[in-house]
Amino acid sequence: MKRLAVLLLAVSALAGCTQALETGSGGGPSATVALLLPERKASRYEAGDQPYFAQKLSELCPGCVVDYSNAEQRADTQLQQAKDALAKGAKVLVLTPVDSIAAGEIVALARSANVPVISYDRLVLKTAVDYYISFDNAKVGSLQAAALLQALGAKASAGEILWINGSPTDNNATLFKQGAHAGLDGKVRVAAESDTAEWNPDNAKAWTARVLPTLRGRTIVGVYAANDGTAGAAIAAMKAAGMPQVPVTGQDAETAALQRILVGDQYMTVYKAIRTEAETAAALANDLVRGRRPAAPATVDNGAGQVPSILLDPVTVTRDTIASTVVKDGFVTPSALCAGA
Ligand code: BGC
Repeated sequence: MKRLAVLLLAVSALAGCTQALETGSGGGPSATVALLLPERKASRYEAGDQPYFAQKLSELCPGCVVDYSNAEQRADTQLQQAKDALAKGAKVLVLTPVDSIAAGEIVALARSANVPVISYDRLVLKTAVDYYISFDNAKVGSLQAAALLQALGAKASAGEILWINGSPTDNNATLFKQGAHAGLDGKVRVAAESDTAEWNPDNAKAWTARVLPTLRGRTIVGVYAANDGTAGAAIAAMKAAGMPQVPVTGQDAETAALQRILVGDQYMTVYKAIRTEAETAAALANDLVRGRRPAAPATVDNGAGQVPSILLDPVTVTRDTIASTVVKDGFVTPSALCAGA
């Protein structure tokens, strides 16, 4: 009897020990969470998503480590980075796919290792993922369209616009395009439209520089540009061609774009609260590490089923609303905006 009691005591002490090993010194679990971001040309990823995510996760889960990688817009690089993260023992993947369909291979690998995947900002298509956190991206396109129409006013029927989309491999680019076409079709004529391979501003600039000379004699009254990188590229190409300022749309509320808005080179941008997006993803990654699977407020069909989703609200920013939106929210400081002025 006494020996049994001693044995039971030893077993329960060991159970405590196993728990301690699993939970690490901070009392929570110790686990690696892989954060796989797609590119560096848009400033948001390394100035916003990555630090906000890491900060929030370290608050919620002091024993967790973020294994961050950036694919520089190469789907094959991202696949390798995901394989490396899984080989190193990542417990959750937070993935912004370079290629929404090709990333199905990453998800399949993760899931066969029982590693849940959060599709972050961009939706993985045609392969089941665990969660999707993003913005209402069709609404981003419709906000851009509405602002452009407002800026054009009566000029909308007096000329044509240039139209620059994002990367055809990014599902978000498809949604921005759909939302914008729904708002602009039938209201303004399009002189030329192009996708932008890899969302690379250099490609958007080269396209604009190439297309402008073919449009001599026609009146370009505005530009639909899907994000701030492509907007800045179009503006630079138009300036180089000696064109007057016309309203140009954008997205991301990059500091450079807000500065262009202040001087009148760009008409609007769309502010997406990246801090909220990244912190929401960190909270969800923390839940998943702890074996919790919280319910999500929405679902989105990704072609392989309904994905539990959290979709945040994008906001239009023009010169008149910079102070009441991005500055008020602490997304940018007045001194950063006015640096160099
Ligand atoms: C993101 C945008 C970003 C673009 C280029 C999109 O999927 O939602 O915020 O500007 O990719 O990286």
